[in-house]
Amino acid sequence: MDLFEYQARDVFEKHGVPVLGGIVATTPQEARAAAERLGGGTVVVKAQVKTGGRGKAGGVKLAHNPDEAGEKAGEILGMDIKGHTVHRVMVAAGARIAEEYYFSVLLDRAERRYLAMCSVEGGMEIEQLAVERPDALARVAVDPIVGIDAAKAAEIVAAAGFAADVAPQVAEVIQKLWTVYREEDATLVEVNPLVRTTDGAVVALDGKVTLDENAGFRHPDHAELEDTAAADPLEARAKDADLNYVKLDGSVGVIGNGAGLVMSTLDVVAYAGEAHGGVKPANFLDIGGGASASVMAAGLDIILSDPQVHAVFVNVFGGITACDAVANGIVAALDILGDHATKPLVVRLDGNNVAEGRAILAAAAHPLVTLADTMDGGADEAARLAHAATAAP
Ligand code: GDP
Ligand code: MN
Repeated sequence: MDLFEYQARDVFEKHGVPVLGGIVATTPQEARAAAERLGGGTVVVKAQVKTGGRGKAGGVKLAHNPDEAGEKAGEILGMDIKGHTVHRVMVAAGARIAEEYYFSVLLDRAERRYLAMCSVEGGMEIEQLAVERPDALARVAVDPIVGIDAAKAAEIVAAAGFAADVAPQVAEVIQKLWTVYREEDATLVEVNPLVRTTDGAVVALDGKVTLDENAGFRHPDHAELEDTAAADPLEARAKDADLNYVKLDGSVGVIGNGAGLVMSTLDVVAYAGEAHGGVKPANFLDIGGGASASVMAAGLDIILSDPQVHAVFVNVFGGITACDAVANGIVAALDILGDHATKPLVVRLDGNNVAEGRAILAAAAHPLVTLADTMDGGADEAARLAHAATAAP
């Protein structure tokens, strides 16, 4: 479970991580009152959505007084940031920033340990930094048994190249952030930016925390952090239609049969997407064994009504429901959807009666449908189409 920034802030505070005052608000009036409670001076009004890049999207605004805080909240509330509607803002005490750093600790499943990442060049573009100048982002393995003790924290700040005057302070904050990670059973604690203010304090200005839901039994208090209101509307519709659907953040819709196949399809699409502007899968959707026309139509309908989706990859392995039945299902589904079907579909069929299935799709020659021979090829084509639909001309 990902936390909102304001929730992360509260959790940080609980464990002694230095943070600034922050109050959540859902209306401009509340934001105004919050700014007043914070002393009436300069505040930052920040969109509370579970996605990054809020700053670049205009979701982080400076306000010099409570009236202005109300105004900025009015501008930010209701904004759409990468498909997330802003329902609340955090009004945070303004910081005078001298320097912006980056720190995160996360679960490194492949290496079966934790990984700390740290940079003296934090701020908004950490992903870009990691790609363009990997040397500027220190990566330090963390032994799960030992954790981040004083020695490890010192190793991390040294690897990141902090100046001697600020290094001990940062190391101390990093140990506190480790406490958050361990005590709350998190799988990610990320601070970007961790700042040094003009008066020399080191403060976590933005926090991203992912809690391990498997450890929920140890944390009854975590239940209330769950954002029940935001149960995704598409997920709710899918549930009503008895579809096994999970909304994700990307732009390539995915339909497959069998949870395992769909999971690997997500991986393959994410991998293929790296060559196409970093596009990612938009959802998990397993239409199960009996890929009938009505199930296919219901699934496509949900995926196509996701505004983030720009192309769809249908990846079906024919078994008991053979490929010809699936192909007929796709054709019939497109028929049912009519004008609602507006985005390109890449279809890869394999398995039982594959030749018949492909022949049916080829004969239907639907203008939106492209046939792919392989899973990798289909993923690549869908990623290319999704990227082409969003890339600037
Ligand atoms: P993100 O873009 O979603 O990661 O949102 P952040 O909370 O990281 O804010 C983006 C940027 O806004 C930061 O890197 C800072 O440069 C700036 N910012 C955030 N809070 C403050 C603040 O209190 N004062 C000032 N001057 N800038 C801030
Ligand atoms: Mn940030």
